[in-house]
Amino acid sequence: MTKIRDLLAAGPTISFEFFPPKTDTAMRALDAALEELSLVEPSFVSVTYGAGGSTKDRTRSIVLGINETRPFPAMPHLTCMSHTKAEVIDLLDDYADHGIENVLALAGDPPTDADTPLGEFRYALELVELVRDKGDFSVGVAAFPELHPRSQGRSADDRQHLAAKLEVADFAITQFFADADDYGRLLDDLDALGVTKPVLPGIMAPNNPAGYRRMAAMNGTRVPEALLARIDAADAADAISLAVEATTQQCLRLRELGAPGLHFYTLNRSELTRRVHANLVG
Ligand code: FAD
Repeated sequence: MTKIRDLLAAGPTISFEFFPPKTDTAMRALDAALEELSLVEPSFVSVTYGAGGSTKDRTRSIVLGINETRPFPAMPHLTCMSHTKAEVIDLLDDYADHGIENVLALAGDPPTDADTPLGEFRYALELVELVRDKGDFSVGVAAFPELHPRSQGRSADDRQHLAAKLEVADFAITQFFADADDYGRLLDDLDALGVTKPVLPGIMAPNNPAGYRRMAAMNGTRVPEALLARIDAADAADAISLAVEATTQQCLRLRELGAPGLHFYTLNRSELTRRVHANLVG
């Protein structure tokens, strides 16, 4: 197993995010994507965690499976909202017992129904500190180039909270964004706060405009409307080519801005990411 902080120090990295599927058919699609993307020899992959622990067992079993069978590490995401400290400690002990060395420590979103308890955590920093106390994990956190939606435009506060997390954590991965300059501004703001930890840009190809708009609305991310309109109007093959080209250009710009690696939101599919990667190495 390998710690992501060491991979980043040796960088640049390339990494892929997957989510735990609900059905056997969707699980087969994830297996196929993983198989195809393994050929790219990623530095690491990560697996998301459902709000309030809804995917706890599936996230765990996918992460353990990848770590046992692949030459690259899989990092579980872990959200603390709605959890007790004892629950989180049990899971971290279990991960450590199974040789997991990396954790992405997140707050998660507060429960929307009144019946779900809020739990013992409020902010991701509390989880980062607990993970640090529990063992020798390499710890990542979330960053938001366009600010976290709950920050409601309070840029200085949001950046300071991120800086406080990164003082304890090893690295950050960003929310997806369309304009590479937003990532550049995030790096400048952190630099001004004296933060030097690596921040990986999270990249999502806009091949599915409806899905992109929906996720952007949830995350407070601006939408590249002119590009999405062209993709909407194109046939399926052209739509993918347009998305691949736009994402390739974004990755090239992110490299110019000093990105320590590229982290792709794959949505459990491989074609787009493989084609962008081929453009970048070709
Ligand atoms: P925090 O760092 O706690 O920040 C949340 C808000 O609180 C921000 O506005 C921040 O400025 C503010 N804040 C922080 N500290 C303080 C303080 N001391 N006082 C006042 N305000 C404060 N969600 C999932 O459910 N599962 C996943 O697997 C998942 N993976 C993700 C992966 C990445 C790379 C990213 C970018 C996000 C992911 N998310 C996931 C979403 C994330 O959990 C939510 O966006 C959540 O609302 C915020 O998480 P955080 O860790 O940034 O929280």
